[in-house]
Amino acid sequence: MRIVLLGPPGSGKGTVANILIETYNIPHITTGDLLREEVAKGTEIGKFAKPYMDRGELVPDEVVTRMVEGRLSRSDCEKGFILDGYPRNPAQAKSLDEILRQLNMSLDCILNIVVPDDELIRRLTTRRICSNCGAIYNTLTKPPKKEEVCDLCGGKVIQRDDDKEEVIRNRLEVYKKQAKPIIELYRKRGLVRNLKGDVGLQALPAEVKKMMEGSK
Ligand code: AMP
Repeated sequence: MRIVLLGPPGSGKGTVANILIETYNIPHITTGDLLREEVAKGTEIGKFAKPYMDRGELVPDEVVTRMVEGRLSRSDCEKGFILDGYPRNPAQAKSLDEILRQLNMSLDCILNIVVPDDELIRRLTTRRICSNCGAIYNTLTKPPKKEEVCDLCGGKVIQRDDDKEEVIRNRLEVYKKQAKPIIELYRKRGLVRNLKGDVGLQALPAEVKKMMEGSK
């Protein structure tokens, strides 16, 4: 199964990806994570990408595309993959077509997670993160046992600056602008499946299964 995963911040992409990993036993490839690894390892790509990432700008297409090409060529992608964070614009979508053509592959579906804005804002403004180990909490659904203290490492649990409401509204607008042409492009090819991302954690696996049926 070759899947491109789309969804706004707070839509539960990680949760959906985990359901897909379990179901299809395929790797989850996230360009943000790949780039952060390059930065951490201090590679040429990492050194080049870091200033763009620090400014919250997209890293130039050629660099990200080369990285994605390398990753999709690895043997663990032969059975399929979940691509997350790429393509981010129509030029990247075109490059992805080219990469897949060369690898003799094609996409099975674009899984587009849909959650109403109000729900996204509620989820993100209640999100908290451990400033030390990155563990994720939620003041409503998963508070740390001791207020502001991480259950796992004892680090301080904080609200990220970009999880504040004004910033979130802006992030959602930026996401919509970015995602719209990509969804349109794949919709014309009949590949887009809208997944209801607000059905609750219990019902989500069945919802994902329902969406994926008929994508093969
Ligand atoms: P993310 O974790 O998806 O928010 O990505 C973190 C950062 O990595 C972004 O702000 C961009 O600087 C960079 N990045 C991730 N994916 C891409 C992409 N497909 N094209 C360009 N830059 C990207």
